[in-house]
Amino acid sequence: MEKGFTITYEYGENLYVNPTNRCNLSCAFCVRRNGATALSQHDLWLTREPTREEILASIESRDLSRYRQLVFCGFGEPSYRMEDICWVVDALKAKGKKIFTRMDTNGTGSLINGRDIAPDFAGRFDMVSVSLNTDTAEKYEALCHPQQPGAFQAMKDFTREVRRYVPRVMMTVVDTISPEEIEACRRICEEEIGAEYRVRAYIAD
Ligand code: SF4
Repeated sequence: MEKGFTITYEYGENLYVNPTNRCNLSCAFCVRRNGATALSQHDLWLTREPTREEILASIESRDLSRYRQLVFCGFGEPSYRMEDICWVVDALKAKGKKIFTRMDTNGTGSLINGRDIAPDFAGRFDMVSVSLNTDTAEKYEALCHPQQPGAFQAMKDFTREVRRYVPRVMMTVVDTISPEEIEACRRICEEEIGAEYRVRAYIAD
């Protein structure tokens, strides 16, 4: 594998795609911010972003029957590459490749792309997982330092909207927040947004 150019990598039972290192947030708990260069032995800092053709070729070089899910995630926010990711998923489907598709996102892709990207998920993704992280816009600003104003609301609006297009929509928090915050986030997720809720264990560097 070319150093500094890990496009796909195995983690658990899934195959992950690393399309970009760009991100519009700077979360306090992010392994990128904490200077880590590797996740599960894979060097995920890209010397350059892979082209859509290189992403497709990397996925196709794998035996997809070995994985439960194909997850667009990586060491950055994948929706920076939304159009290329849609092209890749369409190409896989056109070739008859069958695999459960998921995107792990910070949920602000519509701000990043300057348009509502939720419809792009229709027919392409089986699942979307959105990082909710915390329960108020003020705490979100302090924890995630978004580049754009209104990111917390935009993330919630995207998640509600994408439920119209994707069978399974999940929101996650990391278990480092207080029990009260975990409960407040559960209410936002399940009662305000109508998504599945998951509390993730913190992964240290
Ligand atoms: S959204 Fe993800 S990649 Fe971006 S700073 Fe936060 S944890 Fe890191």
